Amino acid sequence: MDKGTKIYEGKAKIMYATDQADLVIQYFKDDATAFNAAKKGTITRKGVMNNKISSKIFEFLAFHGIPTHFEKYLSEREMLVKKVAIVPVEVVVRNRAAGSLCRLMGVKEGTTFASPILEFCYKRDDLGDPLINESHILAFQLATAAEIATIKEYTLKINDLLSKFFKNLALELIDFKLEFGRYKGAIILADEISPDTCRLWEIGTGKKLDKDRFRHNLGDIEEAYQEVLNRVSK
Ligand code: ADP
Ligand code: UDP
Repeated sequence: MDKGTKIYEGKAKIMYATDQADLVIQYFKDDATAFNAAKKGTITRKGVMNNKISSKIFEFLAFHGIPTHFEKYLSEREMLVKKVAIVPVEVVVRNRAAGSLCRLMGVKEGTTFASPILEFCYKRDDLGDPLINESHILAFQLATAAEIATIKEYTLKINDLLSKFFKNLALELIDFKLEFGRYKGAIILADEISPDTCRLWEIGTGKKLDKDRFRHNLGDIEEAYQEVLNRVSK
């Protein structure tokens, strides 16, 4: 697979063209940002760990019937994926309160809910990825009603699958963010699923094993990502 020109460089990844028009290489960097990129830094070998963790998770989800962009793990920092047109909506699922939900609803971190919460955010860095609802998505034609229905169906299934997957590794899936894209007329899961995009708390100790260690200067950041990788690789 020949690596072609750089198509896009984001905060955490770079996308490269390949010799096949419908495939791209997703390259994982060590750069980390938080609070709408107000905090910037690097996490040593994060790219390597997130590529491996995401690859394992995409394989697991595909095995359980979720269509994903994942084609294959290419090298330590590179994953071959289907080239999608990203739906400009970030889909967040919350099983317990953390981060922005605590501010939104005035609850303490760790608060449990009667049922999981599904949120949509407009994927617009310049606006700070604001919280929106289905009505905004339809009014601004970010996705069709049928696409929203598919995204919600996949998202709730992914939450069930991943909650069980991580529970088996003694990790609690607190919340996570997904991105979907359009590929040959269908909606498929894209981007990454890693400690950058999930909150994971160790069952028993409650230790945070995710990007909150970077956000809030909790220390042992690399060790936390490595711990998740070790468990996911089992
Ligand atoms: P950001 O753009 O938020 O800084 P990244 O650094 O993670 O994010 O950059 C990766 C970009 O590639 C994101 O904008 C993401 O939506 C997009 N992307 C993810 N998967 C695919 C894919 N399969 N095809 C095309 N674009 C993708
Ligand atoms: N998240 C993400 N990218 C974003 C915003 C959120 O991956 O641009 C993830 C985040 O890691 C967490 C979940 O989505 O697992 C919910 O994040 P929250 O809204 O609490 O964001 P925060 O205020 O912490 O940035």
